[in-house]
Amino acid sequence: MRSLTKSNAQFKKALKKLPLGVASNFRYWGDDKTIYVKQGKGARFSDLDDNQYIDYRMGYGPGILGYADDRVDAAAIEGMKVGGVFALATELEYTVANRISQMVPAAELVRFSNSGTEAVMAALRIARGYTGKDSYIIIEGGYHGLFDAALWYTPMEDWVEGQGDPELVPYSDGVPQMLKKLIHTVPLNDANKLEDVLKKHGSDIGALLIEPIMGNCCSIAANAEYIHQVRELCDHYGVVMIIDEVKTGFRVAKGGVQELYGVKADLCTFAKAVANGYPISIVAGREEIMRKVGNGIAHGGTYTAHSVSLAAANKTLEILDETSALEDIANFGLDMQKGISEILDSRNIAHSFSGHPSMGGLFFNEHPPVNYRSWKKSDYSFYDTMAQHLHELGILCEPDSREPWFISAAHDKSCLVETLNKFEKAVDQTCEQ
Ligand code: PMP
Repeated sequence: MRSLTKSNAQFKKALKKLPLGVASNFRYWGDDKTIYVKQGKGARFSDLDDNQYIDYRMGYGPGILGYADDRVDAAAIEGMKVGGVFALATELEYTVANRISQMVPAAELVRFSNSGTEAVMAALRIARGYTGKDSYIIIEGGYHGLFDAALWYTPMEDWVEGQGDPELVPYSDGVPQMLKKLIHTVPLNDANKLEDVLKKHGSDIGALLIEPIMGNCCSIAANAEYIHQVRELCDHYGVVMIIDEVKTGFRVAKGGVQELYGVKADLCTFAKAVANGYPISIVAGREEIMRKVGNGIAHGGTYTAHSVSLAAANKTLEILDETSALEDIANFGLDMQKGISEILDSRNIAHSFSGHPSMGGLFFNEHPPVNYRSWKKSDYSFYDTMAQHLHELGILCEPDSREPWFISAAHDKSCLVETLNKFEKAVDQTCEQ
């Protein structure tokens, strides 16, 4: 058994000063299971008890090149010497904005902020400011950050298929109920439902928020035809299509999910992979819409375009643009899926993969889910038990199947061999249980 003695002691200490003993609710895994990190490097990290892990969470995506990447850290140190924040502009803002525009054609104009939440919040405001319409559409199972307008979900526990749509409820106490009347939800991969909502309410709807590869209910990919139908419907009804690329951006392709699907958003948001973990996010989009920023629409912030984050972003994007890092990441993901399939097939265990190999989902069903409704219906008890065994063996995936397996450019052949050996053990331990 892995010892978590020091992490457990740290938990007790931290609980005295931090709710749940952590800085973000998602990091609390139970009183005796919460892990406190000592040091990360590449695709691996150690905890306070010196347990070594190969990480498939990578901070939920930011670690695209691996932890403590020397090239990005050297750039960040140069950025630090610039001085931090001045409440004035710097040259590097243009350099990074220009790089983003070249990698993502929809990003004609760019603004920076610090977190995914802030970027999506800005995108929603810009869309509403541009259209003059307050209502918006979100996709069931999507996650777009911690601001009140986004913090809604459709719990599926009591939902019965064929008896209407699941109810929309706030994800947190403190979110004003009155916001609900502005929100419409539709399931992914169902253009008819979307068209129905737009036919009825289109004249009030300013924005549609979508992750074409949904990275917050494991990893569920929209089909290409659906995404193009969404694009056409948004055009037809004058709705601003916001593609939330906080997880997919600078990961699934240089031009993000928009490149994969051959679609252009009106507005798009990026965060995680942009600066290999340094805090920065982006709202970008069509010039006609983005020119409203500063021309009626408020945007800013003390820490926007911090010199450290900008320098780290510039280096990370340069590496992603000029090397084969993203292809290597996808190939690692495909090799891992092939190895996992061999192990599971030899034991006659039905399974499927979803999403994208760089942020993939594993399901113990023959077919992957097509949307949040089918994901919620799938049986993930085998997965959850297996994840506990993997943790004991030093392979860190999310403890439930909510998050994809994130791969970085630092996951190498030795990670692959070790992961597959341990995966085989974990599967057998789960079957024996
Ligand atoms: N959008 C998406 C698609 C996300 O996955 C997340 C975070 N998981 C966010 C927005 C919010 O980002 P942050 O946690 O940086 O505020």
